Parts: sequence; C-alpha cells; structure tokens
Amino acid sequence: MTDIALTVQQTARPHGFPTASDFAFVRSPVPAPGPGAALVENLYWSVDPYHREMMDDVPGGFTLDTPLEGRTLGRVVASRTPGLPEGEIVFHRQGWRTHAVVTPVEVRRLPRFDKVPLTAFLSVLGGTGLTAYVGLTRIARLREGEDLFVSGAAGGVGTATGRFARLLGAGRLVGSAGSAAKAAYLRREVGYDAVFDYHDGPASRLLREAAPEGVDVFVDNVGGEQLAAAVGALREFGRIVRIGTISQYNDPAPAPPRFDYAQLVEKSIRMEGFLVSHYRELQEELHAFAVPHLQSGRLGLDETVVDGFEHIVDAFVGMLRGRNTGKIIVRGATA
Ligand code: NAP
Repeated sequence: MTDIALTVQQTARPHGFPTASDFAFVRSPVPAPGPGAALVENLYWSVDPYHREMMDDVPGGFTLDTPLEGRTLGRVVASRTPGLPEGEIVFHRQGWRTHAVVTPVEVRRLPRFDKVPLTAFLSVLGGTGLTAYVGLTRIARLREGEDLFVSGAAGGVGTATGRFARLLGAGRLVGSAGSAAKAAYLRREVGYDAVFDYHDGPASRLLREAAPEGVDVFVDNVGGEQLAAAVGALREFGRIVRIGTISQYNDPAPAPPRFDYAQLVEKSIRMEGFLVSHYRELQEELHAFAVPHLQSGRLGLDETVVDGFEHIVDAFVGMLRGRNTGKIIVRGATA
C-alpha cells in the first residue's frame, strides 16, 4: 500500500462552470486510525451535481482549502475497532480523497448480493436510485399505465427513473437529453418511447411532438424551460416531481422560472419537491425492489466509469457538461 494520501480541495469559488484551477490535489501521509476507528482505502467515488451547489459561498457549502466530501465506497485496510474488520467494504461520505479514517457510526456496511457489482451501490442501489424510487413511488405515486416525461433522462437519476418506471408498469415514457446519441441510447437500452434533444428547439414544441396526448407525471431534474413546457403538457391531476434544477447550477444569473401557474389550479396539478436525505429509511425497500431485477437481468446498469482518482475533477466537470450517460463513477486503481 502507498504511504501517500491524496485529497481534493476547493481553492476558489467558481463563477459559472468550475474549472480544474478551482481545485488542488493535496498530498499527505496516509493517516493512521486511532482507537475505535479504521483506515479505509477508497475504491469508487461519486461526483454529484449537489457538489456544484456546495461550491458556492452558501450556508452549509464547502469550506475552501479543506478536503471535499462526497459519497464513496472503500475497503477497510487497517482497523482498531471490531465494528470494522479489515477487508470489509463500506459506504461513507469522506469522498474526494484516496484514504479516510472512519468510525463504525460514520459508515454503512454494504450487503453483498450475487451478480450485483459494487458500483450499483453508488448508482441504482445508492442515493441516485433512491432519488428515482422516491420520486416515482412516494411523490408521483405512479399508477400502472400512467405516462411520464423525465427531463435529464440520460443522467444517473434520469436513467434510474426510466428503468424503474418501466418495472412499475408505466405507460408511455418520454425523455429529454443533451444529444442525439443519448436519445438513441435511452430508446434502445432504457426503454423510453420518445426522447428529444433539448438543444433542437423550444422545449414546448419538442415535448408536444414527443407527447402529443400529454403526460400524467413529470419527473424534473432540470427546471427552467423544460418545467414550463411540462406544465403545459400535463393532464388533469398531473404531478410534477421536482428533483433538481441543473439548468441553473452553473448559471451565475439564472432567469426566474416562468411558467403558467394558473394551470396548476385549472388542471389540479400537484407539484412537490423533495430531498432524498429525508427518505433514507426506504433504502431497504429499494434493495428489495431492485436487487431481484438486477439479478434477473431485467434491470440494467447505466454507468459511465472514469478510471483513476487523478481524474476525479475532470469527471465532475465533465458530468456538469453532460459527458456522462447514466451515473458517473470514478474508479480507483485498487478497485
Ligand atoms: P446526472 O443527470 O447524471 O448528470 C448531470 C446531467 O445534467 C448531465 O449529464 C447533463 O446531461 C445534464 N445537464 C447539464 N446542464 C444542463 C442544462 N443546462 N439543461 C439540461 N440538462 C443539463 O446527475 P444526477 O446525479 O443524476 O442528478 C440529476 C438531477 O437530480 C440534478 O438536478 C441533481 O441536483 C438532482 N438530484 C436531486 C436529489 C434530491 O435529493 N432531490 C438527489 C440526487 C440528484 P445532458 O447531456 O442531457 O445535458
């Protein structure tokens, strides 16, 4: 094992899209665990849109010049607690670094399921999948046969939403994504019926063409113009599941949302946002739902894996720019 640990630290507040110069890779000796703690070598890292939100000077945001945090999977390589035996694979939140010292209460020991790769615990079985699952089952309360529109359909949450919606018996599935190649992937692999590239014109026209009969549910990862278009396309008793607003995270002066809110009344539409952190208790339920489908092959994994911790910043910036299809995951050399 190497004796040098790397951490990624944010050194400047980005204006618009972050760049590599807003971050530094900092070297230090691999830390030693004290009594009651264990040393984890991280294997897989998640980089997420919420990290971008935390990079601004906002309450609860990242502090400059300290290691960033994020979801990660690692292996216990030295332990001074019986709660974390050496060799155990754990989930924890000290990401953006090669090594972490953790205590048993700071980690989740992962169940192992036959034929399910570890990366699934950062994609469909992790917070990404849980977000999709909560959105469909608790917020939309999707019923069999209902038609959906999903914005940001080719990302981690978007692909999980499409696949889960299919398994839950959704009707017509319409999505939006940032390229023709992503649209083709979604139709071919994920089971979407129609997908448009949102660069191809006004979202209201593209959505009308893709869903001429309207939809019952809108799962929104993007906000802005696509949200406005979806309000127009929703049927009576439609539901809007507000998951994220990625069209704004890199925009220093985002336009205020403009949609016809009178339609919320006229069509008895319910719009509800949520944070997945309030639904952690559904983790086991998600596993019970998704694992048998993963094992049978009915549920595929949509992941873009970037090799090498040294590429974690590029992977993060690339994700913000749409270079991923499915959940973006960074894989370490020892994974
Ligand atoms: P992701 O979708 O895998 O990656 C981000 C994607 O956003 C990119 O691949 C890019 O794809 C798209 N994008 C970037 N700029 C855009 C723009 N201006 N307009 C439209 N699309 C744009 O990321 P994720 O982790 O699955 O997250 C998706 C959304 O869910 C984010 O808004 C995130 O904040 C939110 N989220 C919320 C919760 C919660 O608890 N509520 C939890 C997890 C995630 P294209 O090529 O298609 O543009």
